[in-house]
Amino acid sequence: MNILRWSSIFFFVLVCTYSKGQSLVGFNSKSMDIQKEMESLIINMPKSEVFKKHLEALTKEPHLAGSAANKRVADYISKTMQEAGLQVERPPYDIYLPLNAGKVSLEIVLPYRKPLNIKENIELEDKFSSDANLNHGWNSFSGNGDVTAEVVYVNYGTKEDFEKLASLGISVKGKIVLARYGGNFRGYKTKYAEANGALGCIIFTDPEDSGYTRGLVYPEGTFYSPSTIQRGSLLTLDYTGDPLTPFEPALPLTGNISVNRLKPEEVKDFHTIPTTPIGYESAQEILKLMKGKPVPEAWQGGLPFTYRLEGGADLKVRLMVDQPKGIVRIEDVIGTLEGTDFPDDWIILGCHYDAWEFGASDPNSGTAMLLTLSEILGDLAKKGLKPKRSIKIAHWDAEEHGILGSTEWVEQYRNELSKNAVAYFNADGACSGLSFGSASSPSLKSLLLDATKSVPYGDLKETIYEKWMAANGNPATPPIGNLGGGSDHLPFYAHIGIPSLNAGMGGPTMYHSGYDDFHWYMKFGDPGLVSGVTITRLMGVMALRLANSIILPLDPAQYGKDLNTHLDNVQKEIRKFSPDYSVTKLKLITDDLTKNGALFLKLRDEALLKSLNTAELSAINSRIKWLERAFIDEKGMDYGAWYKSLYASSDPYSGYASWMLPGFLYLASNKESEKIANWESRYAKSFQQLNEEIKNINALLKKGK
Ligand SMILES: [Zn+2]
Repeated sequence: MNILRWSSIFFFVLVCTYSKGQSLVGFNSKSMDIQKEMESLIINMPKSEVFKKHLEALTKEPHLAGSAANKRVADYISKTMQEAGLQVERPPYDIYLPLNAGKVSLEIVLPYRKPLNIKENIELEDKFSSDANLNHGWNSFSGNGDVTAEVVYVNYGTKEDFEKLASLGISVKGKIVLARYGGNFRGYKTKYAEANGALGCIIFTDPEDSGYTRGLVYPEGTFYSPSTIQRGSLLTLDYTGDPLTPFEPALPLTGNISVNRLKPEEVKDFHTIPTTPIGYESAQEILKLMKGKPVPEAWQGGLPFTYRLEGGADLKVRLMVDQPKGIVRIEDVIGTLEGTDFPDDWIILGCHYDAWEFGASDPNSGTAMLLTLSEILGDLAKKGLKPKRSIKIAHWDAEEHGILGSTEWVEQYRNELSKNAVAYFNADGACSGLSFGSASSPSLKSLLLDATKSVPYGDLKETIYEKWMAANGNPATPPIGNLGGGSDHLPFYAHIGIPSLNAGMGGPTMYHSGYDDFHWYMKFGDPGLVSGVTITRLMGVMALRLANSIILPLDPAQYGKDLNTHLDNVQKEIRKFSPDYSVTKLKLITDDLTKNGALFLKLRDEALLKSLNTAELSAINSRIKWLERAFIDEKGMDYGAWYKSLYASSDPYSGYASWMLPGFLYLASNKESEKIANWESRYAKSFQQLNEEIKNINALLKKGK
């Protein structure tokens, strides 16, 4: 594309976009003019046809991690970024994974023999649904086995659900449990079933959660059809990443660096019982034959009969899972656009590329966006508009099995990342609908908010911010969530303390099913192709603000505010068993933190009017970049030393939800009063360190003339 011609056309649009003379945080007036020109290009260059072309190419065939098809996707990503002018690396890892979807069978054997469907039906209007390489439904990291037993319905299969069953006098020992999706991470359903003595676990999507109870089903509508199956990993270890190489990169077996590898039998927490997911038409075949007591009211789902707790002796089901596992080669694909002035400051954007099947919305709508952005950043660089700091665009492998590819890379480059990384933006499935949403670490919230106010949504009439606020009833505080687990930001954020955010557009979904394909995307996901273009602009603008600012636009003032909110919650949780507990001591530190954070904002803006020399600026920026590392505690959490951030973690009981100040929340969940003092001193130390660092930066900001 001819950039010079584009640029003159869009300079006009630029003037319109910034008609309010918005100033940019961290820039002085000279650098701001160049930045605004770059942003106007970033806003106007993304084309929906380009995004669509990438999405279609990436999702031609099912591409499970480790498959030949996934390698073809990696080749496409690599070639696209190379042609865009990025330096591309493909770091390989040898990790322990299912070799393929294996064999699964499920049948009723009593009162009559009936094999049950375990794969999505072919829908004639959707050519992808008849693809010969589409797998049956399966859960990776299931145990292997062939079991025949009576059945027990366990609702969502949460810890509380199993406790409830025990209190009702019902045992799952020697039975196959039937659990519905929802309420927790699926791996915990299997874990609790196994802990309670069950022989097997079947997980189904209830129509109340996605199905006809909610609205029209696929292909007429966008809720799960009777045969739609949610695939997914069951891994629930006390660390993230390759099961055989905790804390260490799973470097190739063929390489010259040897890595300590556990033997699979040394990993104590692998599930051993067979587990498989099914659609509600197959679940209905079993549930309708059950004869026991009716379920508690809250356990009733959307199928048109009364759910029962037990099936009784006249109902037997056979479940067989044969899932071969071994060492599988995976590779991340990472493109770098080196910074002209500060190549060792890294701004990292990422999304995984492996999928359960076609992965049109999850993950590859995010992949297509990152490729669109790579081409635009490459075009700008060719035009002489290179970023001052390095931008890395990462495509992770094997996220679906347990955030594996990104974790191995973080473990391999832990030292370099701790020193160099400014921020990590995650874009997993980021362009798959029309509703904007985000979750962020404190210091990136203002960057995100400011950018949404600058970036137009879709057709340029409104900003993302305006659309987002209107969709949420114009709240007083923008609804930015807390970041937890569930995707590739986790190793960056919870293991090594890199400020991270997740931002994207979503909507109805065929989550982890065979129908999350290009046909679904173009019919229901985002037929107008609005999200690809909108999120390319947003990610581009945020990345370039971090890359080109004179002083990094991270916001330390937000730490004090957010910590106060989380401390209130901690006090509430601890008082449930230790009524006199108070967070007053910690709040004295966070109050000081808030004050010093506010002073930072003032001093930073004053400093931008002065002429700080390069050495002074880089001292300031390095310290800003490292602030979040103050939360990293070498001992880590009581539920797993890999989780080193005192600030945030995934919920160790459910896997997905975010836990803020997790050291405290875990002791509260176990009512361990004797641990309060120790955790309080660890938290005080880290808050103090953060506070001292902000004071050090403030002293440096005062220096220049
Ligand atoms: Zn994903």
